[in-house]
Amino acid sequence: MAKIYMDNSATTKPDPEVVSAMLPYFNEYFGNASSLHSFGQEAAGALNRSRQQVADLLGAQPDEIIFTSGGTESDNLALKGIAYLKKNAGKHIITSVVEHPAILNTCKNLQDNGFKVTYLPVDDQGLIDPNDVEDAIIDDTILISIMHANNEIGTIQPIEDISRLAHEKGVLVHTDAVQSIGKIPVNVDDLGVDMLSLSAHKIHGPKGVGALYVRKGTRLESLIHGGGHERGKRSGTENIPGIVGLAKAAELAGQRLEKDAGHLANLRDAAITKILGSISESYLNGHPTQRLPNNVHLRFSYVEGESLLMMLNMKGVAVSTGSACSSKSLEPSHVLATLGIPPEQIHGSLRITLGRENTMDEVDYVVENLVEIVTKLRAMSPITPKN
Ligand SMILES: *Cc1c(COP(=O)(O)O)cnc(C)c1O
Repeated sequence: MAKIYMDNSATTKPDPEVVSAMLPYFNEYFGNASSLHSFGQEAAGALNRSRQQVADLLGAQPDEIIFTSGGTESDNLALKGIAYLKKNAGKHIITSVVEHPAILNTCKNLQDNGFKVTYLPVDDQGLIDPNDVEDAIIDDTILISIMHANNEIGTIQPIEDISRLAHEKGVLVHTDAVQSIGKIPVNVDDLGVDMLSLSAHKIHGPKGVGALYVRKGTRLESLIHGGGHERGKRSGTENIPGIVGLAKAAELAGQRLEKDAGHLANLRDAAITKILGSISESYLNGHPTQRLPNNVHLRFSYVEGESLLMMLNMKGVAVSTGSACSSKSLEPSHVLATLGIPPEQIHGSLRITLGRENTMDEVDYVVENLVEIVTKLRAMSPITPKN
């Protein structure tokens, strides 16, 4: 049977080059990067080279990179790190309603600890209006955190404009770029951000490793205390195999950006056109153009996304209904709900996120099966209008 993976916003398949780059650091080069002997030096060398590679991808300096356990920790470090340091200067943070739970739940935790958070709305295509950001800034504002691209609907936010407006008022800007890296250009100076989160497993690297970019001169409190690793910002013996894997994934993401983005956009546009053209009452969720090149997010009247997912799975196709985090609950997605989509259509939504290994033949196979499945489910459903 076919085995087609199209859930690349949940995680990606590690690139074979990433796996081979990591292996020696489980075997002969197992040293602790803090040790002074040759084993330690080999590990420290790999750590330095990796830091340079990740910095190069972002147009940053190596000493602006803090390695973490992934996107979630990077988001926590950015928000809490600034909040704890600046709590006497101000207690107000601005974010948006469509952020990843790593941001939203960190903000809730900060609210429980006396901080105030403004959650900016989005329009019906998922876009934030930079003027809303500007209007929300008060004297007490210490940080603005807006994601670069959304993990559910793929909408790309105008981070450049948001950074400019924030900096005019002296407020720091963080962006969660976990989904945008490797799919659209991500350069910290072009975006104008002070901090940026990334995660290896969303760019064909290993799980459990990521980084936070922190612009030189930006201070933050550390969350994990110990032996003073990562310049005192994140203690704990470095995960050298994981960091080497992240660095290789970052290098490939940079080298392949144009090729991958072009390939993904071709597949995305074909999938959207074919599905909307062959299934009645199907609609695109999110923005038609300000959209990640690998994101296909659709809704279908009179069917359940969960049924679609299960029946596609039986055909060997892996997709998602909402975000990976909410797919085990029946709560409607907080992102889709905020776009003004009626609840019954939210439950009829499907997220197909393409990866660099996918082919046009696979897209055709998925479309063909999806058309059959929707037709079958609608025929069985009591709520389908009969004509
Ligand atoms: C996956 C994801 C995260 C979490 O990253 P992990 O490495 O899985 O902790 C954070 N933000 C966004 C937008 C994501 O897609």
